[in-house]
Amino acid sequence: MSFIIKNAKYVYTVNGEDSILEGANIVVRDGVIESINPDTLPQDIHDIYDGKDRLIMPGLINTHSHLAMTLLRGWAESVNLDGFLELVWAAEGAIMDKPTAALGTELGAAEALKGGTTTVLDMYLNPDATHAAAVKVGLRHVAGPIFFDFPGLDGLQWEERMEFGRKWPAILKEIGGPEIPTYFMPHSTYTDSPEHLREVADLAAELGARIHLHVSETLNENNMVAERYKKSPTEVCRDTGILDVPTVFGHGVHLSESDVAIAQSHKTAVAHCPSSNLKLGSGVADYLNYCERGLTVGLGTDGCSSSNDLDMWIVMRVAAHMISLKHSPADVRPSQIVRAATIDGAKAIGIDHLVGSLEVGKRADIIAIDLTALHLTPIHNVAALLVFAAGRSDVSDVWVDGNRVVDFRKPVQIDEQDLRKRVAERVKVLEELKVQPNAI
Ligand SMILES: [Zn+2]
Repeated sequence: MSFIIKNAKYVYTVNGEDSILEGANIVVRDGVIESINPDTLPQDIHDIYDGKDRLIMPGLINTHSHLAMTLLRGWAESVNLDGFLELVWAAEGAIMDKPTAALGTELGAAEALKGGTTTVLDMYLNPDATHAAAVKVGLRHVAGPIFFDFPGLDGLQWEERMEFGRKWPAILKEIGGPEIPTYFMPHSTYTDSPEHLREVADLAAELGARIHLHVSETLNENNMVAERYKKSPTEVCRDTGILDVPTVFGHGVHLSESDVAIAQSHKTAVAHCPSSNLKLGSGVADYLNYCERGLTVGLGTDGCSSSNDLDMWIVMRVAAHMISLKHSPADVRPSQIVRAATIDGAKAIGIDHLVGSLEVGKRADIIAIDLTALHLTPIHNVAALLVFAAGRSDVSDVWVDGNRVVDFRKPVQIDEQDLRKRVAERVKVLEELKVQPNAI
């Protein structure tokens, strides 16, 4: 957990000034960034990483995903959100018991880390099992109990969900792993009644927890909620006390100006998921407007059954292209997109005191980009290189909490081949049950 990155070609700090240092050194001691470019390097740290051909930056932060759903990659194609949910919920019913959720999360965590994502805000059933699996791989995995009105695949009744929520802080402590906040994750305002949302909000306030839920992903969702309650999903959140605790909206594609004002006054953050939103035809969230109106906006991939991968590089690029389309290319600032994928994501989740930038005193969640690729040559603008040219296969090394969890493109803490074998074996069940994807 102590090492020195020596002579890095670039260190992209994502600090307040977006400083980019050249030929810089970083000293990490006991998982914490001790110094950046000190006059003299400590003599007692012998693990030296040669940064000659590397760009060093903070690990990417994925603010909305469902990692276990990597097992359903490609299962529901050519459908909108409603068609997607129908297909995916049927497949989940056939396959997603507790060990399978853990297996899918292990796969997702490994995929995320190899692609340079060091933190994921992950909403999925059986979070005790999924969290243990992700921690095993080395991810900073922000999980939390799921709440909806009906008993789901986990078979829990409402009272049992509340009981599990109460126990969650102790469960987190027992599992260990990189530090994360306590989260509760009611699925949405269309799957949780206002009374139940109020109960979750009260418990979160009592335990000092944060909340993550889907909000205004589609117009259809807005219409359904308006029909039931004569309110927008954001108003339901406000009126049930959800927004009285720090909350991250998943998607937030269709927030009205009044919703944005409500979110802003409650310091509610948004997880912008442009790839998923485009693929499902959900709409184009006005990222720039949200930022200008004072919301903290992070980026997310969503689950692999809706956006097919956990690639935050593509998400950055699509987020930038959406700005060009919705506003103009002159409004695209690559450094702002890099911030969205790092420090803004950390702020949204409530971990910016720990990670999200390379600054002295922060935990060492660091990635190294191999700059030797032809497609990364030459370099005129570092931020533009990251947003518009770099990809996840350019990530060579990854540290979380100062532990090297990816070593020259290889996950360190798990056996990749063995994982692939276990996944292939498990998904055979879907074939046997003849639940067929509608691939075209
Ligand atoms: Zn989602």
